[in-house]
This record gives sequence, C-alpha cells and structure tokens, in this order.
Amino acid sequence: MKKILLIATGGTIASGSTKEGLSPVIGAGELLQYVEEYRDFCSVDVVQPFSLDSTNIYARHWLELAALIELHFSRYDGFVISHGTDTMAFTAAALSYLVQNSQKPIVLTGSQKPIDLPVTDARTNLLDSLRFAAEPKAHGVNIVFGGSVIAGTRAKKERSKSFDAFSSINYPNKAVIRDGRVLFYVDDKDRSGGGVHFFHRLNERILLLKLMPGMDGTVLKHLFPYYDGVVIEAFGVGGFPEYGNVPFYPEIRRWTDAGKLVMMATQVTHEGSDMEVYRVGKVIKEEFGLMEAYDMTLEATVTKVMWALGQTGDPREFRRLFYETVNHDILLRE
Ligand code: ASP
Repeated sequence: MKKILLIATGGTIASGSTKEGLSPVIGAGELLQYVEEYRDFCSVDVVQPFSLDSTNIYARHWLELAALIELHFSRYDGFVISHGTDTMAFTAAALSYLVQNSQKPIVLTGSQKPIDLPVTDARTNLLDSLRFAAEPKAHGVNIVFGGSVIAGTRAKKERSKSFDAFSSINYPNKAVIRDGRVLFYVDDKDRSGGGVHFFHRLNERILLLKLMPGMDGTVLKHLFPYYDGVVIEAFGVGGFPEYGNVPFYPEIRRWTDAGKLVMMATQVTHEGSDMEVYRVGKVIKEEFGLMEAYDMTLEATVTKVMWALGQTGDPREFRRLFYETVNHDILLRE
C-alpha cells in the first residue's frame, strides 16, 4: 500500500466560521477523518507546518514546503498539500521550480467550501488528491481540483466561487478523475529520467506590474531602487506605450544598464505573448534584448524569475535557465 504524507497549510478547506469571517481552524488529522475511504488504497501520515489563509503565503512558505518534502522524500511515495485556493497556483508553480524532476507525485489541493459543510467540494478534492498521489503513473507537481489534474506550472484560478475554480492555461489537463478513476491525457512518467533536484533559493526582489492605459515610465523610475527584476503584464501580444513625461524607453535602458531584469508577459490569459508582431513591441525588444514569457502563465513566469535569479546573477545563464522547460511550463520560445 502506498504511503502518502499530507501536508496541511490551511485555506478554505480547513476553515470554520469565526466572528471575523472564515479562517483556518481544522487541523490536518481532522481533515482526514472526512475522507476515510482513502484507507482502501493508501496510508497517510500528517504534518502541519502552518495554518494560513493562502493570502498570507509567500516565498518563505514555498521554501519551507520544499524543505519539508526534501526532508521526507525517501520515506513517502507521494505528497498531498492542502492549501487555500487564492494563491495555490503560485505555490504550485514555485514548487515546480524548487522540486524538479520528482518521480514521486506532489499534489496541491483545496476547496471552495469548508470540509465540514454538508455541500462542499472539499471531500472530493482531498480524496481525489490522495488517489492521484497513490497512482503509479503520477509524478511531479500538480494541482488536483474539480476532477482535473493540472501541471503545477499551468494552473490559474479563473473562478472565485465555482467548484471548477482552476483551469490549465495553454496546455491540456494532465489527467481527469471521474468516479474515483484516474484517466491520463499526458502519460509521460517514463520520459522523465534522472533524479529529483531540490533548490533552496529564491530572489524575492521581483515585481509583477500590470500596464494600464495612461501608465508611463514614472512607475519604473520609482521602483528602480527596490527590485532586481520586473515582469510587465503588457497588453495583447506585447508592447510599451510611447507617451508620457517619463516614457518607458529610457527607464528600461536604466534597468537593463544596471543589470536588472525586465521580462515581458501579457495580461491576456490565453495564447501568450509575441512581442515581435507590432512595432510597439518589436523595436524595444530588439533594442534591449528583452525576454518575454511567451505561453507561460503569469504565476509560472514570476516564480521562475524568482527561482532563476536565485540561482544566478549572470544574464546569459539566466536566459538559459528561464527558457529550459520545467514541468511543461513553456512550449514556445525564442
Ligand atoms: N482565502 C482562501 C485561501 O486562499 C480561499 C480558499 O481557500 O478557497 O486561503
């Protein structure tokens, strides 16, 4: 029988009502009591490193989770992390970079409703996750939610209330789970050779900046002292506005001359960036050798930048690390 470690971190799945609103109060052991059927296919130990609304989860917690998995890696066949849905896609992407090439599955799940309510998605999601983590063909970091299995770098929370909260962006679901059966669309465990690789550093001086009509380079000028890199969510396939008292152009020069990273991405969820289509993108991309995120999700882009800048300060090595495919995160590239 497979041995799974359940790592409980809070979120709606473990929440109860308090005077101040929903807050995580249900412990890891109690969560398991709602899904006793798991005993038919796996044994589960539990650990609870913290109990938070995922609004409060960031890089420090991602590193803690990766370290916990590393500590227990040899003792378990798979890992399930119960987590709030709001930042789950960021955590799943961050763990995809911090724990690479794992032959053992690392599954994130949560729910839109607390596990102790009569009508809830929590019990199905938790049981599905344990089931997936016990599957011989499962590997790597995935989100299991609403019957879908989504690569950890491809997930996005697209619905704030419905039970099918997460979508896989620019990539198919890896599997679906129907009536307790896992059906694989992407069956690639055999192709992922080599051993697991754990990383221990992230650069947190990264900012995600969304363009809006009227924004000019003033914003970059003010942010300059505080960040080593900025990911810019441009419009459409990508480009910069050319107006303003402080245009973007000289500010991007200031950033790149100082060895800081300017990474282009798009605020459009589906289909990705391609800065070379329009003059507003192509000229500036070529002038400064800007990198773009192509078909990657914003969550994956931001966490991959944090990871790659945590490994190297050399721009050429950064480019190599960033464009290497990790957990199905990028299909298009330069
Ligand atoms: N605010 C909650 C959280 O992310 C929402 C959820 O879990 O669905 O922790």
